[in-house]
Amino acid sequence: MTGTKWWIGAAGQTATHTVALSKLIVNGKDCGIHWFIVPLRCPNTGRLLPGITAGDIGAKVARNGLDNGWIQFSSVRVPRQNMLMKWAQVSQDGVFTPPENPAISYNTLITERLLALNLMVECLAPAMIISIRYGVMRQQGPNNERIMDYQSHQWNLIPILASTFAMTVLFDKLRGDWNQALQAQHDKKQFLGIVQYWHGVSSGLKAWQGWWTMDALEIVRRSLGGHAYSSYSGMGTLITDFAVTTTGAGDNYTLSQQSAKWLLSIAMKQVKGGRKPYGYTAFLGDSKFYSPLNYSDTSIQDSFRWLCTRVIESGARKFTNVRSEKEFDKVWDANMMELIPASRLFSTIVMQETFSEFIKNAEKKASKPVVQVLEKLNQVLLLSHLLKESGLFLEYDYITGKDIRQAREKFSALCADLRTEAAALVDTLRYPDFVVNSVLGRSDGNLYQHYFNTVVNAPNSLGVPSYFEESIAPLTRSKL
Ligand SMILES: Cc1cc2nc3c(=O)[nH]c(=O)nc-3n(C[C@H](O)[C@H](O)[C@H](O)COP(=O)(O)OP(=O)(O)OC[C@H]3O[C@@H](n4cnc5c(N)ncnc54)[C@H](O)[C@@H]3O)c2cc1C
Repeated sequence: MTGTKWWIGAAGQTATHTVALSKLIVNGKDCGIHWFIVPLRCPNTGRLLPGITAGDIGAKVARNGLDNGWIQFSSVRVPRQNMLMKWAQVSQDGVFTPPENPAISYNTLITERLLALNLMVECLAPAMIISIRYGVMRQQGPNNERIMDYQSHQWNLIPILASTFAMTVLFDKLRGDWNQALQAQHDKKQFLGIVQYWHGVSSGLKAWQGWWTMDALEIVRRSLGGHAYSSYSGMGTLITDFAVTTTGAGDNYTLSQQSAKWLLSIAMKQVKGGRKPYGYTAFLGDSKFYSPLNYSDTSIQDSFRWLCTRVIESGARKFTNVRSEKEFDKVWDANMMELIPASRLFSTIVMQETFSEFIKNAEKKASKPVVQVLEKLNQVLLLSHLLKESGLFLEYDYITGKDIRQAREKFSALCADLRTEAAALVDTLRYPDFVVNSVLGRSDGNLYQHYFNTVVNAPNSLGVPSYFEESIAPLTRSKL
């Protein structure tokens, strides 16, 4: 079997062209991987062009509306002009000009990874609407409690609610900043200087927020009890549609490594007196700061900056005697699990910074009660981060068991406090029923009626089944 590229969206039956990342060889010299437009099908007939074999990859777990395909190329000639030559060029007489920075080939993927953040929000928001509305309506237990009043339910759902808001802000902020950076591409030198930064930031966020979202969707599913298993709950589609995001657009394990390697390189360059870290990495230029934990927003954020720096420092020691790229790869492979958490902590820091900044700005525009709720959401988010990373904080002797217990108490109190705001908060997400598409998450709260109506109107829900005479009657009428 010859080399076959699998999974390409729309390649199965529809796409007339693809953009292939391929090795460029000029006069026998390997010039690295570059992008080429390759025609696949005749736009008039839809038929595959000579040398191209392609087809649909068949049934998938979800997203079956898209014809993901496989493609094989056999001696396909791609004209020179089909190379995307903004950053690297091959002249008519065969002279290759490399890009000033090879990292530029990540450029397109940065946009894709930032868009993955938006997809996370688009899945989390309906999941929150469904689970919170169901949680405040569903009554259960000896005293007919609303399930949202259970502490376990609040622990599970309130931090996800807070993260949904924080991630909305995160995506908006990064999308705006990245679009601005893209518009400044005419200054090639400046753009090349920041592309690695954006690759590091977007890779880490795509990986860690993606994994976190997948876990959050499963927590939401469990919070709905048996009804989550009904297709009409909407949760099945949300989960299966989202699941690929932890793999597609760059597998999360590889992205988390790339982001951690980038953080390591910043720390190592710092030691050699390199460029001062900037943007979200600025804290890495101030590695000695330490502030004791007092549970304020700033103190928790500082504690994450401190911890992230320590994890990178500790991992960097393993690379002290590394002299070549080959040696680096070997040491990396043996120690990656020590350094990968740095990327997780860093991504958490970016989220914390953007949300806190947003709230600071909101203070100037929004009413006091709105700001107060936002501040509580931020507090609950920060405490949930602290509790989640308590193992690492303990490992680096930043906190004690007593601190963790105190954090837990504060977290519980805030969750209980926000429980009363939760239903109003999901309303502010402003997703219409049609989009949420769940009988459990209906905005009028009349979920059982909607559920029942949907069920009785579904095909084959009532009456004698068509297979009764053939398959059931022989058994029920049998005298045996
Ligand atoms: C629904 C869907 C749509 C897609 N659409 C497209 C598309 O339109 N265009 C396109 O080009 N591609 C597309 N893809 C492909 C997708 O980008 C790849 O599946 C993804 O990058 C993972 O690569 P892989 O499948 O080869 O996994 P593998 O690389 O084989 O990974 C398998 C496992 O090994 C681990 N692993 C691999 N390398 C490392 C490493 N260096 N260190 C540690 N662990 C590692 C991975 O984490 C994973 O757990 C799509 C995939 C899916 C599922």
